[in-house]
Amino acid sequence: MAGDTARVAVTLPDGQQLRAHLYERRRAADGWQYRVGITCWAAGSSGRAEPSEHSIWLDACHVRPLPGADYSRIPTRAVPAAGGQAWTLQDLPHRPGHAGTRLIHVIGCHPGASITLDQALDALRQPRTVPCHTCKASTSLPRAPG
Ligand SMILES: [Zn+2]
Repeated sequence: MAGDTARVAVTLPDGQQLRAHLYERRRAADGWQYRVGITCWAAGSSGRAEPSEHSIWLDACHVRPLPGADYSRIPTRAVPAAGGQAWTLQDLPHRPGHAGTRLIHVIGCHPGASITLDQALDALRQPRTVPCHTCKASTSLPRAPG
């Protein structure tokens, strides 16, 4: 695979699913959005159909990851959230030999009640609370004091 794109499954308005390129993602106030490139047919200069890519931002509900795809290098943009309700908490249960952990997510990464910046920073001061790597929550939070 070339460049910094990965493939995702996109659901069309009529329910069809197809593969698309994922170029970047951003966090809007109400969740994640993904810029995908969907290749369709378009009339070329000769009048014949040619492949043509349609690039569009889609809400997360229309985009699904594909098993085994690597999305770690997809550029992520943080769009400032309105109202400061921009994070969620996830409690990972205690397992034998492994203490329970609490993850802080940027909203849209993991479902849950949204928390404010102050609540997120408070949570981050607790033991065994870490920012999620998938949504790069640490880059969305100011460095916790102390
Ligand atoms: Zn996350």
